[in-house]
Formats: sequence, C-alpha cells, structure tokens
Amino acid sequence: MTTDRPLHAAGSGLGFSTRQLHAGDHSDAQHGSRTTPIFLTAGFELDDFDAGGALFSGERDGYVYSRHGNPTAAAVERRIAALEGGDDAILVASGQGAVAGALLGLLNAGDHLVASASIYEGTRGLLGEHLERFGVTISYVTAPHDPAAWEAAITPHTRVLFGESIPNPKNDVLDIAAIAEVGHRHGVPLVVDNTLATPYLVRPLEHGADVVVHSASKFLAGHGSVLGGFIVTGHGFDWGTGSYPQLSEQRGPDGRTAVERHGDQAYVRYLRELVVPRFGAVPSPLHAFLIQQGIETLSLRVQRQSASALAVARFLAAQPEVASVDYAGLDSSPHHAVAERYFSAGYGSVFAITLAGGRPAARALYDALEIFTRMTHLGDVRSLILHPSTTTHVLRTDAEKRQAGIGEGLLRLSIGLEDVDDLVADLERGLAAIRALGAILPADDADGAGFPPDAADPTSSARRAAEPDPRIAALDRIAEAV
Ligand SMILES: *Cc1c(COP(=O)(O)O)cnc(C)c1O
Repeated sequence: MTTDRPLHAAGSGLGFSTRQLHAGDHSDAQHGSRTTPIFLTAGFELDDFDAGGALFSGERDGYVYSRHGNPTAAAVERRIAALEGGDDAILVASGQGAVAGALLGLLNAGDHLVASASIYEGTRGLLGEHLERFGVTISYVTAPHDPAAWEAAITPHTRVLFGESIPNPKNDVLDIAAIAEVGHRHGVPLVVDNTLATPYLVRPLEHGADVVVHSASKFLAGHGSVLGGFIVTGHGFDWGTGSYPQLSEQRGPDGRTAVERHGDQAYVRYLRELVVPRFGAVPSPLHAFLIQQGIETLSLRVQRQSASALAVARFLAAQPEVASVDYAGLDSSPHHAVAERYFSAGYGSVFAITLAGGRPAARALYDALEIFTRMTHLGDVRSLILHPSTTTHVLRTDAEKRQAGIGEGLLRLSIGLEDVDDLVADLERGLAAIRALGAILPADDADGAGFPPDAADPTSSARRAAEPDPRIAALDRIAEAV
C-alpha cells in the first residue's frame, strides 16, 4: 500500500537555499503548524469498512501503517528529491539501510555488481559479507576515475555500477558522467553514494547517475544526533529490458508488472512498495523531523565547512610533519581537475593527511588535540578526527590497506563549524606533540606512507600477529558499527 506523492512545491526554478527551506512542505490545514508535525504513530485509522479495501488495493491514496509511509517522512522525502533534482525519494533508518535497500531492489542471485574499490567500509562489508552470500558476484575497480577500467569489469550479468561522489578518506572523486555513460551503453544503472558531497556540492542525477543514496546521519542531519538514509531516483532509465525480472516480469495483484504500471518509475515504486517495507529499515517520524530541520541549514553549513576545510588542508600541506594531504580541493591533488568539473561551491570537508612519522606521529597528534573530537562520524557540526588503520579499516589486511593508500600515519579529518583559527591552533598543538617525539621517530618511515607497520609499536599489526592485543576485539566491534 503506498500513496502517490506529487512533489508539490518542489520549487523548480527556485534557488537551492530556498528549496532547502520550502520544497515539499507539509501543510497543516487543521492547526497551521509552520514546521512539519511529527506524526508519531504506528498506524492510521481506516474510516470505514470500504476504506481499508480501497487503501490496500491502491485505489485510494492515504496512509495505513508507518512502515509503508508516514506524512513526516514524506515531507522530508519530497524535500531531498527536490534538492537532488530527483523524481522521488525514500527515507530509511540509516545510510547503510539506503545502500542495502537500493541494491536489494536491483540484484538477484547470479547477478554481478561493479563497485569502486574506495567505497565506504560498511558498504564493502555489505557486498562482501552478504550480497556474495546471496549469490551476487562483485568486482572492484581500483582506478575508479578511469571509464575504461569500469567498462572492462562489466559482464553480461552486471546489473549495477556503484561509486561514491567523494570517497573517504582519499578523496578520489568520481567522474560521474563518464561512468554513467559506460553503464548506460550496457543497460546498467549507476548508483552514487552522495553522502560526503551532499546535493549542495553535486547532484549526480544531473550528470547521468540513475540512483543516489545518502547517509542522512552525516551532513544532511548535520548535528550528529540521529541516523537516517535516503534513496533518491531520477527518470529515464529503461527497466523493461528483462535484466530486472522483478520489475518487468513479476506481476502484481492487478496482473501487471511494475514497468507496465509505472514505466520509468518502476524501480522506485517497487522499492517503496515491496523492498523497503519488507526489509524493514524504517525511520522514526521523530528522526524524519530532525533530518528535515538539519536540511534547512545545509547550504550554509557545507559552504562554511568546505571553506574551513580548504584553509585547514592548505595549512597542513605546508607542515614538514605532514607527508601528504588527500583533499580534492588542493591543486596538488591528482583528483582536483575532476573535482573542479563537478564542484563549484566547495570540495567538502572530509579529507586525510598522512604523517611522515607513521603511527607514532599519528598517535601523538591525535591524543594532543583538544577541539577535534576523536570519533567515527562525518559531516558533524563539530570537527572530528579518526585513525582509519586501527578503526574503520582494522579488518583489512596490510596488503589491502596499502592498495587503498591507508597507511599507519594516515588520519581522517571531518571539519566542522568552529572558528578556523581555533582548529589550526589545535592542529599546531598536535604537530608540536609530534616534534616532541623527536628522535624516536622511525627513520625508515620518512616517506610518510607508514608501511610496513612499525614492529616496534606494540599495537602494530606486525606485533599483533605474534601476541594478540585485547584492544583488537573492541576495534572489531567499532569497525562493525561504522
Ligand atoms: C556513514 C556512511 C554510510 C552509512 O551511513 P549510516 O547512516 O551510518 O548507516 C554510507 N556511506 C557513506 C559514504 C557514509 O559516510
């Protein structure tokens, strides 16, 4: 049972900041509430005997049960669709739920998916630990900026191309139009995780992507208080080729397929009616409200965070303790040219630095900070820092970390809304702590890559093999959670 959600007040023709405040507004005819009311209810009353039949058969629009739709969620769905330039959007309980839902709607056992190798670790886990278990094969493209590499990975069974607009921590920005074009030549849609860029910086659907997913827990909600996710869809993809039998062959109660009923909206309708409610990653209406509140200031936050990130990245790039800075906003980044083509209002605020002193330097800087929060999250109003090698990427082998460019001296930063001078002063404190280590820095780590792990360090993976570190179990749990 679904309802039709015309994107009234979608605000085409209006600027981004106007749309983030007004598009898709819920109007409360009863009391005139200016903000969207929080419809905190499991179900919705059926007026009479016939109303149930009409709603469940789809003859009539309306809400029946919050797992299938809720007016508070619908308002924020309309808003994100308007901001991404999409036709429709579905709110789910987390970013991970959005990635899972989008892919479960597309894939069947025996299918093949091609993903960029630099995707979010949680998504990589979903693919490797679960989709493979269900009979889906996965190929990773290690040169995601190269359309030929994507093309070479495609087989007759490929049903999805998956990438991220700004991957973390290395900022190897996706050439969305080029990869979408490769997919379309083979009848395969491109799904883009746009979490780090947000629709303020880039709208992948406008560049040819077919589906956008988000962790709304990051910049969209912005305040670091709730989790949520979105699946946003565009139009024009042909779902009727036979590659997606769930859309073009499976028949509904009226004897028609999703493609026959909904044309190029078949996929999103199938997600809304049969995938998201069945797998059950449903958000609370309270979270829908809080995410909408966050979105209302998105452009201001991302503008400021991007500007501060550029200033901090430039400061760090000039420090002798810093071997490299992976920020697509810097001229020195190998991904700057692609980023410049896609981003006009900033380059985001999540990036990595690699310290010349390897893990001991990372530890010294990390533990000396007083303003940055040591935490696994991104896009928060507060600045955050994390050591991926021992946290998010702890389950990866040293060879995999080397391939991903994640050394022992690499730290990931997510720049928040503090005064940039205070952030620089905090990092200066961290750099001073590295200098205080002085002579004990391993000389062979001067290239900054931080490989191989420093065996003298009691937490290095080289040591770990010999004597298990009790902290690793805790780190595994963290890696699971992110
Ligand atoms: C955080 C994140 C996710 C997962 O989102 P959750 O809301 O934490 O489930 C997916 N993709 C990217 C790029 C992320 O940063």
